[in-house]
Amino acid sequence: MSFSSLPGSFSSSSHPLVPYGWDADWEAEFAPYDSEGLLAGRVIRVDRGQCDVVTPGGMLRADTAFVTPHDPMRVVCTGDWVAVEPAGDPRYVRTYLPRRSSFVRSTSSKRSEGQILAANVDYAVVAVSLAVELDLGRVERFLALAWESGAQPVVVLTKADLVPDATTLSYLVQDVETAAPVVPVLSVSSNLGEGLDVLAAVLSGGTSVLLGQSGAGKSTLANALLGEDVMKVHATRDVDGKGRHTTTTRNLLALPGGGVLIDTPGLRGVGLWDAETGVNQVFSEIEALAAKCRFHDCAHTSEPGCAVLAALDTGELPERRLDSYRKLLRENQRIVAKTDARLRAEIRRDWKRKGAEGKAAMEAKRGHWG
Ligand code: ZN
Repeated sequence: MSFSSLPGSFSSSSHPLVPYGWDADWEAEFAPYDSEGLLAGRVIRVDRGQCDVVTPGGMLRADTAFVTPHDPMRVVCTGDWVAVEPAGDPRYVRTYLPRRSSFVRSTSSKRSEGQILAANVDYAVVAVSLAVELDLGRVERFLALAWESGAQPVVVLTKADLVPDATTLSYLVQDVETAAPVVPVLSVSSNLGEGLDVLAAVLSGGTSVLLGQSGAGKSTLANALLGEDVMKVHATRDVDGKGRHTTTTRNLLALPGGGVLIDTPGLRGVGLWDAETGVNQVFSEIEALAAKCRFHDCAHTSEPGCAVLAALDTGELPERRLDSYRKLLRENQRIVAKTDARLRAEIRRDWKRKGAEGKAAMEAKRGHWG
């Protein structure tokens, strides 16, 4: 697996934003705003219409009201590169640069659309604990989410020191590799400090997020990568737009060995959201087999000339993989259907409300002028 195609080889390494992921492509994207005198910065935290931005001159707080506030997919989020007004009270974020990738959360009952959690992520690290029995279906689900975001997934098997011997460990790694084609699978032990150097080297090439169920060792991994107490780094005193000292929680941190880690609470429990492309990427070998089926709309159930069923027969394709593929596709379809229904209902409500407001405004006008 080669990582050389990803960002990280920017030559002007003296730029103060390089530790935060600034590269030649971002510089080119930002050029028109630079000529307007706007400041470049990366969002490290978003909070009630405001965001904390790291800029060449240091940390500042800016208002995001300028940037399409009504679409939850188009609000400013952690990881965005933004153009900020050089002065003002409050300072405004003028815009954010086009995103290379984005992590979207499936919605809670209160919202009808996906919610964007992090932008411009290069590596989605799926943490899987070796302290409990491997649940490959769960690994596949996180991988679908990772692929869907546009980031490169990396599976990290944590707590490797709890595996009795090297042979068992290599079998576990192989098991995960069958569930994660074309995805690097690493094993680490934060306790013993083993494997962390390899992981740190991989992640030094870009921006990463940690995914995985609770207990997978994400916090320990984050601490180990940061090389110091995360809470101490998270809670640093900054000067906001009004010159006051504030204590800020940073959800985006520069790693000591290079690269950036985004760690927001919402990301940790993230679920599938319209991730059909991601699901298909996780099961790329099934997609490749399906292309060889006699019928192009083959459902791989009992059709003659079905390459997927043939691969099941020979054992080339494990039955568990096919079951898991179908399960995730079904789950995704349910989420999409539910979202569509909610969206339609919300659009109707919105139109009714706008209609009523328009009418009231017209009547008020008439009352005032007429
Ligand atoms: Zn088929």
